Amino acid sequence: MDNKLKENIRNIRRRIISASDRAGRNAGEIKLIAVTKYVQDDKIIEAIKEGINDIGESRIQEAEKKYSNLKFPIEWHMIGHLQTNKIKKAVEIFDWIHSIDSLHLAEELNSKLLSANKKMKVLLEVNVSGEESKYGITPEDLKELANNIYNLPQLELKGLMTMAPISDNPENARPYFKKLRTLLTDLENCIGKKIEYLSMGMTDDFEVAIEEGANIVRIGRGIFG
Ligand SMILES: *Cc1c(COP(=O)(O)O)cnc(C)c1O
Repeated sequence: MDNKLKENIRNIRRRIISASDRAGRNAGEIKLIAVTKYVQDDKIIEAIKEGINDIGESRIQEAEKKYSNLKFPIEWHMIGHLQTNKIKKAVEIFDWIHSIDSLHLAEELNSKLLSANKKMKVLLEVNVSGEESKYGITPEDLKELANNIYNLPQLELKGLMTMAPISDNPENARPYFKKLRTLLTDLENCIGKKIEYLSMGMTDDFEVAIEEGANIVRIGRGIFG
């Protein structure tokens, strides 16, 4: 057993609990996704043995190899940009897609899901910071995309996802996380339905994200070093 990995996971869990306590929230409602890009299978298996149930991948090719090697009852999350020519593979592998950012992508996904007779939990990726380097729809386009998603029967709209700009101070991420939470509340009011998840927070900023309402955090380096 890799003790460092075990210690890392325990440490992240402790920090999730502290951040939840500070925010008056229940840590049990926060889903921890272990992000396994560039991570070897044996390490991932160790993490699963430590109770990790959710795996996040950002590249289809890499995910495909892991998926065929790791036959565990875990959930697979696509967290990276999804190209339309990779949708068919994505449908085979993933239970969740966090990176829906256009109606075209959503429609193509819906049609591949129909052929495969599957459903998919999806989150809409929002480019809250407006950085050009980032994928995601603009906050202005969110309501229209969400409304259109409800017409696609194979997609279950589960939430919103964002990434804060890279920074050496996690406090700098706070306004972006606050904004995503406000967007979620506005969207819920607009469509008259609850939307369950806010996927925000990575190794460097997950505690701030939890304080601002994240209930999915995506952690790579903090677990696998
Ligand atoms: C890599 C990645 C993460 C994890 O980042 P760390 O800083 O290693 O925790 C989370 N979300 C997305 C979308 C990523 O690409």
